[in-house]
Amino acid sequence: GRGAAMVTAVALRLAAQSRAVDEVLAPLRLSRADLEKVQALMRQEMDRGLCKETNPTASVRMLPTYVTHTPDGTERGDFLALDLGGTNFRVLVVRVTEEGITMASEIYVIPATIMQGTGEALFDHILDCIIDFQMKQNLVTQMLPLGFTFSFPCQQVGLDKALLLTWTKGFSASGCVGKDVVQLLRDAAKRKQHLGMQVVALVNDTVGTMMACGYDDPKCEIGLIVGTGTNACYMEEMKNVGTVEGDQGRMCINMEWGAFGDNGCLDHLFTQFDKVVDETTINPGKQRFEKLISGMYLGEIVRQILMAMVEKQLLFKGRPCPKLQTRNIFQTKFLSTIELNGLALRQIRAILNELELDASFEDSVLMREVCQAVSLRAAQLCAAGLAAVVEKMRESRGLDQLSVTVGVDGTLYKLHPCFSDNLQKTLKDLAPKCNVTFLLSEDGSGKGAALVAAVADRAANAAK
Ligand code: BGC
Ligand code: MG
Repeated sequence: GRGAAMVTAVALRLAAQSRAVDEVLAPLRLSRADLEKVQALMRQEMDRGLCKETNPTASVRMLPTYVTHTPDGTERGDFLALDLGGTNFRVLVVRVTEEGITMASEIYVIPATIMQGTGEALFDHILDCIIDFQMKQNLVTQMLPLGFTFSFPCQQVGLDKALLLTWTKGFSASGCVGKDVVQLLRDAAKRKQHLGMQVVALVNDTVGTMMACGYDDPKCEIGLIVGTGTNACYMEEMKNVGTVEGDQGRMCINMEWGAFGDNGCLDHLFTQFDKVVDETTINPGKQRFEKLISGMYLGEIVRQILMAMVEKQLLFKGRPCPKLQTRNIFQTKFLSTIELNGLALRQIRAILNELELDASFEDSVLMREVCQAVSLRAAQLCAAGLAAVVEKMRESRGLDQLSVTVGVDGTLYKLHPCFSDNLQKTLKDLAPKCNVTFLLSEDGSGKGAALVAAVADRAANAAK
């Protein structure tokens, strides 16, 4: 009768709707073959980055860090540490003793005007924060060795000499690219006549994280960050590092995998949404892999998809939604909350209403589906990258089976309810001969910088 006809009509409409949704999301869904291809491409770019001849054109820069050992537990001393380039800027004091590591830290704000102002103003600001910290901690009368976690790509020529290759993640302070960042910090100390510190080492945050976790677990030879940005480092055989003299032992390589694909090798993966997100950043065409994975960009990808869905009348009953035009309204936090297991649709709806998005239950279901598609793809891509790393380590060491620990940090990895599960599941699948343990780093950047500083300090004193 008529009732049945109506039910059929509704069912047909829903089926058409779900087909239309699938069509929008299809380009974000990666097959096993897609992931294997990403893994193979990453491996190829790694080899190209390590080889002296091909390094200049490789998208993965494979930067030498001059860190040749993970900690052995004999590191000692009091150190200052800086952590710049993540969600927060922090100054720390780290005490490494026989009993273990203790620290105190303070978070300072770097206003956007300073991030994007002059380099001099940026480093002056950093110095003001250090001086404030040393006063508060009663550390003004000492000259403390300082380890600087600086989470940007640098060409290092030693532990304490690091030329900034390019800014990422929304930083653009002028007059820094091509300069030695350690010198920029020392110059600022001179300008402020501050004698309470001596910069002895600069490390990438991936390296700091690996070192901090390596202090607790000697099998930790990989560092991974999935936060505002993304990147990885690992211990490579010196004989494979064509860009540094010498064949003995190992060196930690800062991959800078965020730039993977900047040479076009991932173009087949980018959706129209990824392209728009890339074009609206301050570094279009750069950090293309990072822009598929890290916290700074996932919310923006979600927003682009939702706008397309409104346009196709799949969301908000096709009513225009001016709030969706606001850049960065979805932070990483949002993706994490909306995907929480057991979170009722009612709660999702409340969250959306708070963002002034007038969502129905159906809208809430759809939003969650979009977030899931975006974060799953991010975790899978990250796994494909890691699979290339662990497989390369296994091969280099001539092992049938590799057992290794990854030290991890970053807001997305830590806060998102499914990211780490999806990452680990996919990695197992792509690199079955590797047994990989993930170790969350607690305050890794600061601790790791201090541990590197400890080694540098010991070497410097031995040379005296
Ligand atoms: C930087 C890396 C850093 C990563 C995670 C990227 O944007 O280029 O140096 O390790 O973010 O913070
Ligand atoms: Mg960080």
